[in-house]
Amino acid sequence: MATATKEEMDILIKLQDIETRAYKINKILDGVEQEIETRRKKRSDAENGLAKLESELETTRSQYKEFESEVRDRDIRLKKSEEYLKNVKTNNEYQTLLREIDDNKKRNSEVETQMIEFLERIETKEKEIREIKSRCEDIVRDTEREIAEIESTTITERKELEEILEKRDAVATLVKPRLLDMFNRILKQSAGLAIVPMTNSTCNGCFMKVPPQKFIEIQRGESLNFCHQCHRILYYKGN
Ligand SMILES: [Zn+2]
Repeated sequence: MATATKEEMDILIKLQDIETRAYKINKILDGVEQEIETRRKKRSDAENGLAKLESELETTRSQYKEFESEVRDRDIRLKKSEEYLKNVKTNNEYQTLLREIDDNKKRNSEVETQMIEFLERIETKEKEIREIKSRCEDIVRDTEREIAEIESTTITERKELEEILEKRDAVATLVKPRLLDMFNRILKQSAGLAIVPMTNSTCNGCFMKVPPQKFIEIQRGESLNFCHQCHRILYYKGN
């Protein structure tokens, strides 16, 4: 059976007090962290929305540029064809070339109409982006301020936690490694409560009645005793 001296039991109780305080502080900090996370999400949503619009604008602009170069290339071809038209020999050739010139002109005119539409689209998007950018800057500024404010409310807790953890590490060195491992394992499995007093022959961890035989053993305090229900370490604290 695992054993622990009276001194070791006292140290475990002290360790538990430290862990309980750390657990409470961590809970406060977790809640605060969630609040901060909400702000961070708000900020990144705004930034992502803006980035999406900017990338859409970039796509529209590059489509516009493609149209531009398409028209330019066709213009060059048109000029060449018009030049060539002066030198054609047959009527057939002349008609074919004329038709080609006509088609190209028509196509360019279509593309130019589309370009006007694209220019309008670009302008609208630029205006939208300007507005959203300014709103996004406000959100970033506001959320940063809010996060700093929230963080400042926990300065005391963070400092205390740091001190507590240092103290815990120091106290932990006073316990046999095997006992400490066991304590830490129970702590992890039992919602941060590894050692609990037995009062009125009841486990203070799960509030189950302790069997009479166990009660006597715990009262004697000569061996390590565990609650048969929640498996926490039990110690006697008087009735
Ligand atoms: Zn129990």
